[in-house]
This record gives sequence, structure tokens and C-alpha cells, in this order.
Amino acid sequence: MQKYSVVSLVRKAFNHHRGWNRAWGSPEPKAKYQIIIIGAGGHGLASAYYLGKNFGLRNIAILEKGWLGGGNTGRNTTIIRSNYLQDSSAAIYEKSRSLYENLSQELNYNVMFSPRGVMMLAQTQHELRGYKRTAHANALQGVKTELIGPSRVKELCPIIHIAGPRYPILGALWQARAGTARHDAVAWGYARACADMGMDIIQRCEVTGIKCSNGKVMGVETTRGHLGCEKLGVVVAGHSSALAEMAGFRLPIESVALQALVSEPIKPCIDVVVMANTVHGYLSQSDKGELVIGGGADGYNNYTQRGSFHHIEETVRALIETFPIISRLRMLRQWGGIVDMTGDRSPILSKTPVGGIYFNCGWGTGGFKAIPGSGWAFAELLAKSYSPLAAAFSLDRFREGHFIDESVAAGVTH
Ligand SMILES: Cc1cc2nc3c(=O)[nH]c(=O)nc-3n(C[C@H](O)[C@H](O)[C@H](O)COP(=O)(O)OP(=O)(O)OC[C@H]3O[C@@H](n4cnc5c(N)ncnc54)[C@H](O)[C@@H]3O)c2cc1C
Repeated sequence: MQKYSVVSLVRKAFNHHRGWNRAWGSPEPKAKYQIIIIGAGGHGLASAYYLGKNFGLRNIAILEKGWLGGGNTGRNTTIIRSNYLQDSSAAIYEKSRSLYENLSQELNYNVMFSPRGVMMLAQTQHELRGYKRTAHANALQGVKTELIGPSRVKELCPIIHIAGPRYPILGALWQARAGTARHDAVAWGYARACADMGMDIIQRCEVTGIKCSNGKVMGVETTRGHLGCEKLGVVVAGHSSALAEMAGFRLPIESVALQALVSEPIKPCIDVVVMANTVHGYLSQSDKGELVIGGGADGYNNYTQRGSFHHIEETVRALIETFPIISRLRMLRQWGGIVDMTGDRSPILSKTPVGGIYFNCGWGTGGFKAIPGSGWAFAELLAKSYSPLAAAFSLDRFREGHFIDESVAAGVTH
């Protein structure tokens, strides 16, 4: 791999930046692969990367119907945190957060991880009790979080109005090493590393059917022909149910559009991430100066990958009481992604009723933060048919009733 460094940048600058290699190619699909991953979002690419890095498997294709990173990975509000309640969730999200700490160095690609701190506001007594419980659980899990009072909230985020008439700030769950990263760069960094290991990333290649024989996967039908495989990893977020149907089974997943928006750029005014679950909105400031604002999911199932006016109004109206400065800002653009929601708001990393087919989905409104950890665990599951990090997230839990309830941690979309 061509190494990116200050020296290589300076050297290429003298040559008008000619001679850089493409970060990844456009290979022709081969007839058969050992493993095919469907979906070149962050989770699919990270899964392929750790299959190569941790298990030495390289005969892998990653198939993408659009362009890599063009799904939810390139549409989210980039919040990274690991302050979940249940042990199995804290384990995988904290693994992920800790991998983010050195991801730029590991991939030799600047993913702009910014551990600026995330606070989840408590604006009702009920919420305060909930976060107290999470802080205690996190202490036992080895995840560093703390419950802070209103004055500390104000100190960390001066633009906040702590004495709001309806929902005053009673405290917050604060995770100092949580933060954000550049979402596209995460996908691009993993893609470049996968291509360097000899894997084929095939864009504009939609999977239209899954071929099985005697209860085992044989390959996939695509818009670029039939491709054979020994194992199939399906990592397609909001399209998971459609892919499961192709393989002949159903998933406990619902797909809904989730929206976000950004304001016009302004001078730096907030250097932490704030989530306000009660009023339902969250906020951070991008390097360009835009306020990145996330809102709720649509109240009905759909596959529309776009924003709508009433969501801007609802989200901004909700946030104005807590952040009065927003009332004078113009909103610049909005967008939507199709997220995959499970009933217990926890993901699925699992074998399926068809031999050789594995699903990694159900990350819903909060899977960006999980990309490295999910890739790590799913690679292990694909390579060895078992991963301790993924074990609790198998499909069996829906049959056996072992739900991993994260409705508080996922109370606001993020
Ligand atoms: C507005 C919004 C805000 C969010 N904010 C946050 C946040 O702040 N923090 C956080 O942690 N998470 C957040 N999320 C959630 C996060 O974005 C997702 O959980 C995560 O990106 C899912 O990644 P993925 O790789 O599984 O899916 P995707 O990135 O969606 O990748 C799946 C890919 O599969 C491809 N595909 C689908 N069907 C086929 C097919 N038949 N053949 C081939 N390819 C196919 C798609 O084109 C897509 O590229 C947010 C999501 C949205 C929409």
C-alpha cells in the first residue's frame, strides 16, 4: 500500500500530486469466492478487513449496489460512544470505541476520530434515575462514564439553557472519551485496506437473488451475473429483510427512514456532543462550523432515503428551548437513511437457518459507533462460526426471549 505521510505528501507536491495510486480499484467479478460480503457500508468493509487481518482470509468479494459508503454509513451524525446498559452491548460498543482510538494509525488513513466527549442530558427525574443506573452498570463493565450535575453541564457546554421552563437540565451522563469521526473516511479507510489485501470491492453490483442447495448457500445472483461462494455475510442495514426473503426466511427487523440536518456554518460554539433524549434531538458542531442536528425516525415503515419538512420543524422546535441560539440559524440541508430496527434495539450478528449465510444487521439508529467492533466480531463469526463478542446477539434470542433491552441507550436516535 502506498503510505500516506507528511513526507509522501511533500514529495508528491513537487510533482503536482501526480503518481498517487487509486485507493481501491474496479475489479471484474470472479466466478467464485471463499466469502462474499453483501453491502460495502462501514460494517461490511470492516468485517472484510478483520477477516483479512485477523484470520488471513483474502479470497473475498464485497458487493455494493450503489457506491461504497453511500448507505447509512455516509448519512449519519457520526456519534461514537459506548455508554450502554447491558453487559453484552457495553462489551461490543467499548471494543469498537477503543478500536476507533487508533484506527487512523492502523489504516494509515485519517478517520478524524475526535474524542471530544458526549453528554446525554437528563431532563426528567425518570431520565436521571435511568442514567444513574447506566453509570453504575458502566462502572462494573469498565466503561468510563460519570453522572454530572447541571453546573458541570453548563461549564462543558456554555450555549445550553439549563433552566428551561418545561425541561430544566437535571444532570447528564458524560463520557469524556466518546466523540465523533469522519463517516466517509471510516468507509474509505477500510476499503483501501481491503483492496490492498487483494479483496475485490465491486460497486454497482446489486444482489438480486441468493442460490441455496440442500439448505446451504451456493452463491448469489447479481446485476453482474452469478457469483459462487462458500460463505455469505449479509451486511445491508435497512435492506436486511429483503435479502433474508431472498434466502427464504424472515427477520425480526423493521426498516424506517431516519433523518438529520445541518445548519449554516457558524464560528465554533460547542466542542462536545449533546444528546437531549426527552425533547428528542442531538447536536454537535462539524469542523466546517455547521451544527449537525439529528432528529427522530419516521413513525411508519418505509424505504425512502430522503428528508421531509415536518421533521425539520419538529426537531428544531424541540431543541430551541435547550439551545436558544438555534432560533436564529438557517438550516442548510437535510437527508435521510434507511435504518434497521429490532424490537429490543440491539443488533443481530448471527448464523441463519441456511448453512453458510450469516447476517450482521439491526444496528438501527446507532451503528456508526459500532463499525470497528462489529467488523471484528462478525469476522470471527464468519471465520470460526463463533465469536464471544457476538454470541449474545444471535437470532436465537428472539425465540428464547433473551432480549438485550437497550431502549434507554437508544432513546434518541444517534
Ligand atoms: C440520519 C442518521 C443518523 C445517524 N446517526 C448515527 C450516529 O450519530 N451514531 C451512530 O453510531 N449511528 C448513527 N446512525 C446509524 C448508522 O449510520 C448505521 O447504523 C450504520 O451506518 C450502518 O452501517 P452499515 O454498514 O450496516 O449499513 P450501510 O452503510 O447502510 O451499508 C449497507 C450497504 O448495503 C448496500 N446494499 C443494500 N442492498 C443491497 C443489495 N441487494 N446488493 C448489494 N448491496 C446492497 C447499500 O447500498 C449500502 O451501501 C445514523 C443513521 C442515520 C440514517
